[in-house]
Amino acid sequence: MTLPLIFAATSDVAGKVRGKAFPAEQLDKRLVRGVGWTPTNVQITCFDTIAESPFGALGDLLLVPNAMAEAKARFGDVTEHFMIGDIVTLEGDPWEFCTRTILKKALERLHDVAGVHLISAFEHEFQLKGASRIENQGYGREAFELQRGLCETLMAVLADNGLNPDSIMKEFGPNQYEVVVGPAKGVRSADEAVILREFTRSTALHFGESATFTPIRDVASVGNGVHIHMSFVDDNGEPVTYDENGPCGMSRLTDGFAAGVLKYLPNILALTAPSVVSYERLTPHRWSAAYNNLGFRDREASLRVCPVTAKDPSSIARQFNIEYRAADAAASPYLALAAVVHAGVQGIADGLKAPAPTEEDLSLLSPEELAKRGYVRLPQTLETALAAFQSDPIVTGWFGPEFASVYAAHKAGEIDAVKDMDTAQKCAAYEGAY
Ligand code: GLU
Ligand code: MG
Repeated sequence: MTLPLIFAATSDVAGKVRGKAFPAEQLDKRLVRGVGWTPTNVQITCFDTIAESPFGALGDLLLVPNAMAEAKARFGDVTEHFMIGDIVTLEGDPWEFCTRTILKKALERLHDVAGVHLISAFEHEFQLKGASRIENQGYGREAFELQRGLCETLMAVLADNGLNPDSIMKEFGPNQYEVVVGPAKGVRSADEAVILREFTRSTALHFGESATFTPIRDVASVGNGVHIHMSFVDDNGEPVTYDENGPCGMSRLTDGFAAGVLKYLPNILALTAPSVVSYERLTPHRWSAAYNNLGFRDREASLRVCPVTAKDPSSIARQFNIEYRAADAAASPYLALAAVVHAGVQGIADGLKAPAPTEEDLSLLSPEELAKRGYVRLPQTLETALAAFQSDPIVTGWFGPEFASVYAAHKAGEIDAVKDMDTAQKCAAYEGAY
C-alpha cells in the first residue's frame, strides 16, 4: 500500500529544487496554506553547507504550491509528482528571496515600462556521467541511438507535462545531449526549465544513467550551457520583437532591451553563471560567452540575434528572437531570467541602443581595443562577478533590500566549500551538485 504524495517545490538561490511532500488528498488545503518553510534554507549551498545566515534559527515561512506549475511522470512503478510554488510570509506577503516571485516582479516591471510580455524558451545541454561507450560522436547518430530510449521517454514526459518538445540531439561534447522545447509566456518558461531539469535526471536514472547539467565537467572540453531565447508580445498577443528596418532586424524595443542586457551583463553574471566552475565555461572559443558582445547569428556571443526560418512577414515577426548565452544550470532559471529581464528593462527605460554585432575574434583584441568598441571581457571568476554585482546600485536595486548581501554571503559559503580543491576536483564536486 502507498499513500500518494505531492512534493511542494522551490527552485532556490542555489539553483537546487527543494521542498516537502504532503498527502495528495490534502491538495486543496495545501494550495492555500502551503507547507512550512524556514528562512535559513536560503543559505543551504549546492554542497549542503549552510552559508552565513542573517536569519539563524528564527522565523517561519510558507511554501505554497501552485497548481499551474504541476509536474507528474510515471517511471516504472513510481509516479513522481511535484508542484512548484511561491514562498510567502505567515501573513501571506511575498518573501524577498523566493526566486519565482523575483521573476514575476521582473516581468511586471517589463510590462509597466514597455507594455509587453516576455515569451521565452530555455535550451539545455547536459551530460551523462558514465564513461562514453562510443567516442567521436559530436551530433552523432550512433550515440543518439544509444540513448534513443532515454530521449523518447524524456520527450514524452515533457509533452505530457505541457511542454512543447522541439528537438533533442547528441551534442558535441562527450556524452553530451541537448534538449530544446518551444517557448512559453511569462513565468511558465522558467517553470518548464525546472520540470525539464528534474525529469531529465529522473529519466536518466530510470535508464540506469545519471545526468548532470553542471556548467563544465572537464576544462579540456566544452561546457553545458543554458541558452535563454526571448521575444516580446503586446497585450493583444501581437509580436513586437522584429522590425525589418531595425538593426539586425530588432525593433526599437528589442534594441533597447539588448543594449541593457549587454551594458549590465558583467554585473548580472554572478546571477546567471553563479558557480565557481561557471567561469571555466565562459572562456573564448567554447561557443559560450566571454565578452558583452552582440552576435548576429554568431554563437561566440553572449547575446545572439537568432536566425529565422520563416518566409512570410507575420511568421518572421513571431519567430524572431534574441538568445542570452551566458547562463548555466547552476542558476535557478527564475533568478537567471529575472536578472536578464531587469537588465533589458533598464536598457529600454534608459533609451539605450545596442552596439553593432561583432564579427571578429574578440580574444585577439587588446583591452584598449575592446574598450574602444564598447566591449569588456566578462568577469573571469565568481568572486569578481560577485564584486561587480554588489558594486552596482542600479543592479542590486532591482531586488529587495537584503537580497544582494544575502546572495553574496550564500556564494561566499559556496566558494569556501571548494576553496582547497584543484579545478578537476571542483568540476567533480559541481557535477555531483547539478
Ligand atoms: N556548449 C556551448 C555552451 O556552453 C554551446 C554550444 C552551442 O552553441 O550549442 O554554451
Ligand atoms: Mg548546444
